[in-house]
Amino acid sequence: MIKIILPDGSVREYPKGTSAMDVALSISEGLARNVLAAKVNNVVQDANIPMEADSTLSLLTWNDKEGKSTMWHSSAHLMAEAIEFYYPGVKLAIGPPVANGFYYDVDFMDYTISEKDLEKIEQKMKELAKTKAEFVRQEISKSDAISYFKERQDPYKLELLDGLEDGTITFYTQGNFTDLCRGPHIPHTGFIKAVKLTAIAGAYWRGDEKNKQLTRIYGITFPKASELTEYLEKVELAKQRDHRKLGKELDLFHFSQRVGQGLPLWLPKGAALRERLENFLKKAQKKGGYDQVITPHIGSKELYVTSGHYAKYGADSFQPILTPDEGEEFLLKPMNCPHHCEIYKARPRSYKDLPLRFAEFGTVYRYEQSGELHGLTRVRGFTQDDAHIFCTQDQVKEEFKKVIDLVLYIFKTLKFETFKAQISLRDPETPEKYIGSNENWDKAEAAIIEAAAEKGLDTVVELGEAAFYGPKLDFMVQDALDRNWQLGTIQVDYNLPERFELEYTGSDNQKHRPVMIHRAPFGSMERFVAVLLEHCAGDFPLWLATDQIAILPISENYNEYAENVLELLKNYDIRGFVDDRNEKIGKKIRESELNKIPFMLIVGEKEAENQTVSVRQRMEGDKGSLSIEAFAALVMETIEVELNVNA
Ligand SMILES: [Zn+2]
Ligand SMILES: [Zn+2]
Repeated sequence: MIKIILPDGSVREYPKGTSAMDVALSISEGLARNVLAAKVNNVVQDANIPMEADSTLSLLTWNDKEGKSTMWHSSAHLMAEAIEFYYPGVKLAIGPPVANGFYYDVDFMDYTISEKDLEKIEQKMKELAKTKAEFVRQEISKSDAISYFKERQDPYKLELLDGLEDGTITFYTQGNFTDLCRGPHIPHTGFIKAVKLTAIAGAYWRGDEKNKQLTRIYGITFPKASELTEYLEKVELAKQRDHRKLGKELDLFHFSQRVGQGLPLWLPKGAALRERLENFLKKAQKKGGYDQVITPHIGSKELYVTSGHYAKYGADSFQPILTPDEGEEFLLKPMNCPHHCEIYKARPRSYKDLPLRFAEFGTVYRYEQSGELHGLTRVRGFTQDDAHIFCTQDQVKEEFKKVIDLVLYIFKTLKFETFKAQISLRDPETPEKYIGSNENWDKAEAAIIEAAAEKGLDTVVELGEAAFYGPKLDFMVQDALDRNWQLGTIQVDYNLPERFELEYTGSDNQKHRPVMIHRAPFGSMERFVAVLLEHCAGDFPLWLATDQIAILPISENYNEYAENVLELLKNYDIRGFVDDRNEKIGKKIRESELNKIPFMLIVGEKEAENQTVSVRQRMEGDKGSLSIEAFAALVMETIEVELNVNA
């Protein structure tokens, strides 16, 4: 008998040779129907492999990340089988799972294939799935594997085999299809209940443009038909919410080829939106003890040689700018940190000055390949909501807690309700890879873990994910469409204080190195606006909305009164417009609703006579007749609640 330890710690005994699937069946048939793969002693494998010794076991289902990727990887095999059915003799390259589904790179030889052929492949996959064909694993010698693929004249599999060691090679067969594969796979094709082939694209073999271009077909599968429907709805929503589309519709930003790729132009409404976000953060930062600084857009090459950025990124960056006569070299600023180190060094610092918190909406420029550029999320020039905190080692924890508070305040105000914090620590196996003393690292890591725990964050700890210069904490936010974005980083740095020889005089009258903390709650204004747009679909809270009010006169007779109301409200910093078109009031109301205007003020004879407005609030409905002052008070109150001013 062998002992099987389940994730809840319970131990069960089974005869030697029991498989994970047998264990699942012994628990319940319902469970067994959902088991896609198994994690045995922390290794993901086929659920039907016999276990020969005591083992820990997790049964992997669709709810596990590895369960999903096993299903999707197996689906790539199924797709390959369907492709071979219609296009015999094609050569197959690789077919891995990806974040949302899978793909297979195929050399279609003399066949032509287009988007419209995907449906028949999809149909064939569904048909083959219904046969519940088992994925059969077979260990095979390297020479046998080579002769198999030589016979099939498949240069790609032969090249892959070249890199494999004899004794480690396995084939998997389902139905009429055999593939070179390490696995694991789902038990049989019947687990695949819904299939959608989503896209077709070109891809070079091994990602190298010198190689032949293959055809990459993307797909996604699900264990339930309803899940595919839900997925397709989300994809449709994501398309509608694409920030590039919304940015155009809402008149926020623009790209001009003449200005240059990846260099966004902020239009008046976009600039105003960005300014409101900046002011919101500036206000919170002021409260948090930050000092605003301003630094230039370029810096001498020497600055980045000192910081180490030039050695690391210089070759892949915008190249130095040369002066006409004096042979000086400057770099477009790729990051603000070196400039801020020099601000620290502007005068001698004492422990009494610390912590110092220098904040800047600093615009930086980074070279991205043109193929990598994407709307506002991947650009070549962007503005970071950057700040650097210089503090003593003992202050690190308190500073982390303060930054966490700031980030949580932003998330709460902008309604990012689901997020996780990832703490990245050293790899304990390779302490020599990191700069800074062990003692300081221990302290900083403990400080971050404690700060996150005291703030009640839902955290995952990743060993070996820290940068060489310090541990960090990242926030991963889930948006309204369940997509994950990394927003907000807090990073300890032992490297730059060393390189810039930063010092402060301690209470002991001795010189000490301060610790530097980099932090950017939004990340960059560009990326944050993109994420925010897609999260709220342009339906901004009142304080952020482009137009807070639309004043709707019942007829032309009241246009003048409407204009007066608008002027009066401007005194309260309330922004909006008069819809003075000669249209029916019903139509004006509907359009304002469609445009997501937070407040509609309807004015007619009665309102003009009494100097009032008839108020309708978006999502809330009729608020009755209010004086101008009372309405202004309502707006200010609503904004105070939104901004959690009293929280
Ligand atoms: Zn496989
Ligand atoms: Zn920095």
